[in-house]
Amino acid sequence: MFKLIPGIKRSVFRDNDPRAKQADAVFVARRPQVLEKSRYTCQGCLYRSMQTAKKPTKLQVHHQDDDHHNNDDSNLAPICGLCHGYPHLGCKTASTGGGGGLASDAQLAAIPELAAADLNNLLRAIGAAMSDPNEAAVAKQIYDVLCERVLPVRKAFGTSKALDFAGAMSKLNSVDYAARGDAVFDLRIVWKADVLKKAGADMLEDHPSLKPSSWHASYGELVEEALASQA
Ligand SMILES: [Zn+2]
Ligand SMILES: [Zn+2]
Repeated sequence: MFKLIPGIKRSVFRDNDPRAKQADAVFVARRPQVLEKSRYTCQGCLYRSMQTAKKPTKLQVHHQDDDHHNNDDSNLAPICGLCHGYPHLGCKTASTGGGGGLASDAQLAAIPELAAADLNNLLRAIGAAMSDPNEAAVAKQIYDVLCERVLPVRKAFGTSKALDFAGAMSKLNSVDYAARGDAVFDLRIVWKADVLKKAGADMLEDHPSLKPSSWHASYGELVEEALASQA
């Protein structure tokens, strides 16, 4: 499993690497086998996106040590777009392509009661429910509760923008960066609604037997709690 801690890419950037093309060629060759070996499972949240003759997987593949020259199996982690935002806060790469947006649009929220992996599964379900006329209102209500959790982050850090956190992290030395988990471990990425809708639509395509209304079964307790706290 891949630990979802807000972070940034700190080294070996493609843009100023003359050997990026060779590295990417190796990566592209390795990628299908890595995905297949995981059985098309996100190593952050365990979301599955099977590849079939009819559709490609929605999963991406992350270099865990940030080095795109290191294309060993042990360094390559299949990951969904929502989880891939964590190691690439504020990064304008394809990192959130599967989620349909950019981490630069996202906010960080204090949601310590939900692990990032669980939150991503909830957010995906909210995104799917938002597209169902019968579920949209309650989905929006839950989403609003989660969005309100940016307020304590703003109070503590002066900002809740993922991009601002990325900027601050880029100025840390490597020791402080490695220790950042203490400060940001409870912080979760709350994506814009359109990113969630895209992730939800992807989920319904990956798992056609799922009904948007089935999300209550998985998240009923959390949903009820959130609604009760609003009442
Ligand atoms: Zn994931
Ligand atoms: Zn990555």
